[in-house]
Amino acid sequence: TLSDRLADTFKNLRGKGRLSEADIDATAREIRIALLEADVALPVVKEFVAAVKERARGEEVSQALNPAQQVVKIVNEELVTILGGETRRLRYAKTGPTVIMLAGLQGAGKTTLAAKLALWLKEQGRTPLLVAADLQRPNAVNQLQVNGERAGVPVFAPEPGNGVGDPVAVARASIDEAKRTLHDTVIVDTAGRLGVDAEMMKQAADIRDAVQPDEILFVVDAMIGQDAVTTAQAFLDGVGYDGVVLTKLDGDARGGAALSIASITGKPVMFASAGEKLTDFDLFHPDRMASRILDMGDVMTLIEQAEKAFDAEQAAKAAGKLQSGDFTLDDFLEQMQQVRKLGSMSKIMGMLPGMGQFRDQLENFDEREIDRIQAIIQSMTPAERANPKLIDGSRRARIARGSGRQVSDVNQLVDRFFEARKMMMSLAQGGGIPGMPGLPG
Ligand code: GDP
Ligand code: MG
Repeated sequence: TLSDRLADTFKNLRGKGRLSEADIDATAREIRIALLEADVALPVVKEFVAAVKERARGEEVSQALNPAQQVVKIVNEELVTILGGETRRLRYAKTGPTVIMLAGLQGAGKTTLAAKLALWLKEQGRTPLLVAADLQRPNAVNQLQVNGERAGVPVFAPEPGNGVGDPVAVARASIDEAKRTLHDTVIVDTAGRLGVDAEMMKQAADIRDAVQPDEILFVVDAMIGQDAVTTAQAFLDGVGYDGVVLTKLDGDARGGAALSIASITGKPVMFASAGEKLTDFDLFHPDRMASRILDMGDVMTLIEQAEKAFDAEQAAKAAGKLQSGDFTLDDFLEQMQQVRKLGSMSKIMGMLPGMGQFRDQLENFDEREIDRIQAIIQSMTPAERANPKLIDGSRRARIARGSGRQVSDVNQLVDRFFEARKMMMSLAQGGGIPGMPGLPG
């Protein structure tokens, strides 16, 4: 598995301080193989690996992780982003019933999914109506009725014996029926074919035009593998859709189709179905799918633990130093770098209670400022960093020359350091910012 191979790569790379081109290449090779094994489409694999390599090159070397772990972390983050980041929620209509239309190949799992979704919505207090607009297969209406009954959700279907039904007319009539009977959500099941087919696309497009869905969901079998891209693209061109539902995740497919589709279409995967029971259904979780595709849940756990341990160590060290009053310029720099690692300063501080007063300052915080501060601090002697009170006028001039900055920049930094130390000491005495990694508290 990828985990085993990466464990070997980790062994080879352990102890190296820098993310070298060779490190990146070695890890990227393993990622490539893993994605292909997960049945991700080749062009998607290529583009993805190239993007990861590009980002890894620009990445600052982490102190908490070894280079391979760092690349894997980037891979994971990129995967989660492509797979949709945070799960997107269904959009409900502001007035009148919300219309959800399902499209996809025959056997993808649409009819089963219609009932699963109906049950899920019902549990959230909505009042769904299922609509049988698949009149292609003789048994299709009955299958939806059986499933609807199991979900306890009514099914709107053409009257039996009414001759050959017109799925577009049924779909259109279902909206009036939903309004009349006060159902707030309509789920339209449609027909599929075994392969992409012009007539099927036209019918789906006609149903779409008749019911004006708030959401069109493309339902796709996770086992479809390499065909995912062509099928997803054909439905996008022929019908269009807002989100993707992945079915049959209980099979042994690693879910590469999810990545292929999300990456090619840019549409988020919204729901996942993993079994034939109506309750085998949930919102899609990009992070879980990312580890499934890479088959490296244990590796991610290791990475998280390593980072947590590192952060806790740093925070404890800083807190100890603050209490004993010997917080130095080295610590100051380290703290700033820690904070930058966590994301934009204003975002983080905005999440902390009581930090609102600093928000303006923080929103104007320039990330490059840390590089400038770093240059200045690195031009100081160890003694000066440990005891900033030593830094007199002539030392300031020397430090300014050494770092290519102005004396006024050095003055400002030293002033800021003393100010920050004062502020942080008072925070530390007042209980600080508890549990915030990388921040003194
Ligand atoms: P449709 O043609 O798109 O409407 O697909 P169906 O809903 O009729 O499903 C086709 C087959 O796949 C049926 O036998 C379902 O029981 C089965 N199926 C649907 N979803 C899942 C799933 O998540 N896991 C498994 N194992 N089978 C599923
Ligand atoms: Mg069906």
